[in-house]
Amino acid sequence: SAKDAGRNRYCVFEARMSAQSRDALLIDEALQQAIARKEFRLVYQPIVEARSRRLCKVEALLRWTNPALGFVPPDRFIPIAEESGQIVDIGAWVLQEAARQAHAWAGQAGAPGCISVNVSAAQLTDPDFMATVEDALMRSGAAASMLEVEMTERVLIEEADTVIRVIEALHARGLGSSLDDFGTGYSSLSYLTRFHLRTLKIDRAFVNGIEHDARNLALVRAIIAMGHSLGMQIVAEGVETEEQASLLADLGCEYLQGYLISRPLPPGELPGLTTTTEA
Ligand code: C2E
Ligand code: MG
Ligand code: MG
Ligand code: MG
Repeated sequence: SAKDAGRNRYCVFEARMSAQSRDALLIDEALQQAIARKEFRLVYQPIVEARSRRLCKVEALLRWTNPALGFVPPDRFIPIAEESGQIVDIGAWVLQEAARQAHAWAGQAGAPGCISVNVSAAQLTDPDFMATVEDALMRSGAAASMLEVEMTERVLIEEADTVIRVIEALHARGLGSSLDDFGTGYSSLSYLTRFHLRTLKIDRAFVNGIEHDARNLALVRAIIAMGHSLGMQIVAEGVETEEQASLLADLGCEYLQGYLISRPLPPGELPGLTTTTEA
């Protein structure tokens, strides 16, 4: 009967849900020891100037391999760490490690001028966030100008007043800022004028297919114009083809990031750079 079918569907749904939440529990538990057991590392994805293809910055991306769970991608474990609050400690580790790497790269020929670090809402709204940044700078000896903080639109909407103050504090201290995954959030364009972020990163969903889809191209053109009118520099994320790269350069997009340029790499594999040992 229809009723039985409904019940079966419900059972399948419930089984899937509990498997999901059991995994989440395992991940949450394993994360608690991950820093102490040195299970994290950072990889760095090049961000190049669109016209010259010169390396300007890199984005630090977190990688986690646990002995029992194996490799767990960030899209899987970061939401869980955000939910539990562990992201604050994990994020502090990321800042420390990025600052250490920035200092190791400082002055090296061919090294990126800046490392961009992703931060979650819970980090930005943590009253100790600026102290955490300060601590990472002090312990590493890195210059503040070598670090930039990436945040998504969601953060801006949920905690607008706090985040405006934090962005100002970061800028006052000499760090950069960027708005990640632009276009996937919910912010109205006028809303963005409240935040004086330096860089706007166009989400790869819009970059994808601009060579085939006139509407996507029009949208990307409009985003670039809007970003520029707010005094922001533009990074296109997820650039995968030469055609996309040249269209974006023609549209005045300053920077490119994506598999066309390079996958995220361990620090020693960035072209023309030497490895450093972990602190
Ligand atoms: P994101 O900050 O938007 O990072 C860009 C993601 O796109 C990375 O995935 C990168 O590997 C991937 N990507 C880069 N170029 C291409 C391309 O050409 N094509 C495709 N298909 N993908 C490309 P990843 O490393 O898996 O990270 C996923 C997300 O996890 C990040 O998105 C970010 O939101 C989050 N994340 C990563 N590391 C951290 C971290 O240290 N802290 C926090 N809070 N979040 C992080
Ligand atoms: Mg990012
Ligand atoms: Mg992004
Ligand atoms: Mg993302």
